[in-house]
Amino acid sequence: RALPIDPEKENFTRQVPGACFSLVSPAPVKDPDMVVYSTKAMQLLDLDESQINRPEAAEYFSGNKLLPGSQTAAHCYCGHQFGYFSGQLGDGAAMYLGEVINNANERWEIQLKGAGQTPYSRHSDGRKVLRSTIREFLCSEAMYNLGIETTRAGTCVTSDSTVVRDIFYSGNPIHEKCTLVLRIAPTFLRFGSFEIFKSMSAETGRKGPSEGNKELLITMLDYAIKTFYPQIWEAHSDDKEKMYFEFWSEVVRRTARLVADWQCVGWCHGVLNTDNMSIMGLTIDYGPYGFMDRYQADFICNGSDDGGRYTYQKQPEICKWNCKKFAEAMQMVLPLAKTEPELHRIFDDAFSERYTGKVRRKFGLLKKSLPEDGELMESFLSTMEETGSDFTNSFRCLSNLPLPSSSDFESKLVEVKEQLLSQCCTAEDLKRAYRPRIDPRQLQMFVQLMQTNPGILPALGSRFAAVAQELERLEKLQDMEGITNESKREKDGEAWNKWLQQYKGRLLLEEDGVTDLANANKERKKVMNDTNPRFILRNYIAQNAIDAAEKGDYSEVRKVLKLLENPFSDSTELDDLGLSDLKVTMVRDETS
Ligand code: AMP
Ligand code: MG
Ligand code: MG
Repeated sequence: RALPIDPEKENFTRQVPGACFSLVSPAPVKDPDMVVYSTKAMQLLDLDESQINRPEAAEYFSGNKLLPGSQTAAHCYCGHQFGYFSGQLGDGAAMYLGEVINNANERWEIQLKGAGQTPYSRHSDGRKVLRSTIREFLCSEAMYNLGIETTRAGTCVTSDSTVVRDIFYSGNPIHEKCTLVLRIAPTFLRFGSFEIFKSMSAETGRKGPSEGNKELLITMLDYAIKTFYPQIWEAHSDDKEKMYFEFWSEVVRRTARLVADWQCVGWCHGVLNTDNMSIMGLTIDYGPYGFMDRYQADFICNGSDDGGRYTYQKQPEICKWNCKKFAEAMQMVLPLAKTEPELHRIFDDAFSERYTGKVRRKFGLLKKSLPEDGELMESFLSTMEETGSDFTNSFRCLSNLPLPSSSDFESKLVEVKEQLLSQCCTAEDLKRAYRPRIDPRQLQMFVQLMQTNPGILPALGSRFAAVAQELERLEKLQDMEGITNESKREKDGEAWNKWLQQYKGRLLLEEDGVTDLANANKERKKVMNDTNPRFILRNYIAQNAIDAAEKGDYSEVRKVLKLLENPFSDSTELDDLGLSDLKVTMVRDETS
């Protein structure tokens, strides 16, 4: 709904009361240039390489030209950011271009991210740069090829237009090239797309102390269910409350499965705000995300997440919390009394089913499902943490182990132990990898405060938890002081021996009823290697590709894409790309 705008009072960036979107056009860029495209993603739009390779493709995917029939807009949404309701956010840098119905009769929504200002850009310019778009592009396609639900990235187009970005460590403002990424998904609707109606008055469309705009909420919900969950729409058209409940439950289940998938590849989103939670259960909005190298339960990939709200181990619980916020956004049509008591059951069941299923394939446990399997994972994780092992590579090498009755089992056991040990970091790596999460002076202040005034602890709340965690990290660091590489290696060896014996015990149970050992070993290896990736998008790999692209060399980005398109491949052909050496040095990864 359009409201009269007084240009004196309301500049371009503004509150847009009563709106779900605003019509806006991409701002043109100078000399657009195709950095990289994903053939597989562009196929969704029925576009082939010969079409994408034409010079005008860069014009279209920079927003300089619009595809026929395109109606561009920015979507207005809300969100809980870092636990707090932020009110109106919206597409501040992304623009809806329209929807493509392809030859397979699939409907794909396309967006340009970095297309310039919208009414929701707040104080920013609506632009993205090479760094951020290459990161989004590569990880979208990496996740897709890992079999994880995600929005897709079709193209990445840079230009000669620039924006100033001040990277904190440079000290100087840097001019960076405006770059756009074409995103593709069934829909980009998020939890926040529904939260927007909570605080919107039905009369004025303005924010205010009202019950919210029920009418618009219903319009949006019905559109989303009818379009994206047609089975639910059809099954419950006579009972709308039931229909909303089924929709909400399905979103909860998809979210739970998605986060289970992330946990299984050691991936952190970094900004799990409700405006970054897709109603389709897709990974959406690639910002400071990170694949873990050395395993850490409290791994944080987002430099501004001081409180550690979005650590690796907290992701499932945070996603569940977001589902609760989604229920709250729907409470005008679906009472909380219906959703709240069901949340834990629905989320936990979907999560554990997906998580344990995948974990069992990661360990090659194909015959039986035992309650102890969860403990095997827990002890594997804690052994990786204790030894400072690489998450991806440690899992990958387990497939070299055959079932225990195989004649070469003992020799393979020695081999795998060596491989696991080679993934452990050195004592120096661990020491150097320590980065304070609380400013040391502030930490000292807190410690003094707590010592002199213990009564203050409850008042410090989550601050105290952060301080306690930091002290624990420091203690671990001090424990490292006396440790040499040799003594660490010895300790790591013992830890892995212990875990491997536990694993052997479990594998023995897998042999029950196995008649063809060779075949069972073959199957086991295949399943494991199809579940434990060999190639993931490590931060330093993305960074190398970005550095080259900033110098005008796009070959590295394209090479990395090719690798990420075959994450499970054992093919030596890919080694020739020169990126197969994934032995990481910890420091490089922690600082990037
Ligand atoms: P995010 O943390 O990426 O989910 O973004 C939070 C909000 O900031 C969203 O409303 C984005 O659209 C907006 N935003 C992010 N980057 C930009 C930008 N470069 N210009 C304008 N708005 C932005
Ligand atoms: Mg976002
Ligand atoms: Mg973002």
